[in-house]
Amino acid sequence: VFVVFEGGEGAGKSTQVTRLADTLKTEGRDVVVTREPGATDIGARIRALVLDKTEAPSARAEALLYAADRAHHVATVVRPALSRGAVVISDRYVDSSLAYQGAGRTLPVQEISWLSAWATGGLKPDLVVLLDVDPGVGLTRVDDRGEGTDRLESESRAFHERVRYAFLDLAASDPKRYLVLDAARPVDEIAEAVTARLAGLLTA
Ligand code: C5P
Repeated sequence: VFVVFEGGEGAGKSTQVTRLADTLKTEGRDVVVTREPGATDIGARIRALVLDKTEAPSARAEALLYAADRAHHVATVVRPALSRGAVVISDRYVDSSLAYQGAGRTLPVQEISWLSAWATGGLKPDLVVLLDVDPGVGLTRVDDRGEGTDRLESESRAFHERVRYAFLDLAASDPKRYLVLDAARPVDEIAEAVTARLAGLLTA
């Protein structure tokens, strides 16, 4: 089973990824926690390139770098884990590219979709949990923990609004595959909603 968490900056993805992994491990399940970009050695180098403040890659170069990270991630981490029956939980996946490189950077979303499908060999998540956050609230949360504010503030509020609505549109287009939760809800409530939804996908 392949579960992905998506959402804007400061949505609380990493907290929820950890919570879900702990719950599933307590049930004795084989769980692999991973993320994009940067889960592999090659990915870590790509992450450093895409998030470089001194020389930001051009929009198309950025899209290709995320696609390269994802191709390698899927081939070396995600597929092998799924093949042995593990539950794979990824912090970000294809929707982040559709939202950030597509809607955010205004590259044609259909092209990012093709690129992503090629990179992943068409691997789709069984469930995408979208933690929906107002960019103003999310960016303040990130600010408060003192992370990467230079880079985040270099993107306009409009950029983050486009990203947010792109995520929501994706979820609306395929409701069976998505669980959309308000990231402002208490951590425990969100975690419970995720576990409840996942129950139907997990075999005992
Ligand atoms: O989720 P995480 O905070 O690790 O993401 C790092 C940064 O990479 C975020 O600021 C996000 O905006 C950016 N990102 C992106 N396009 C993606 C994935 C992440 O711009 N496809």
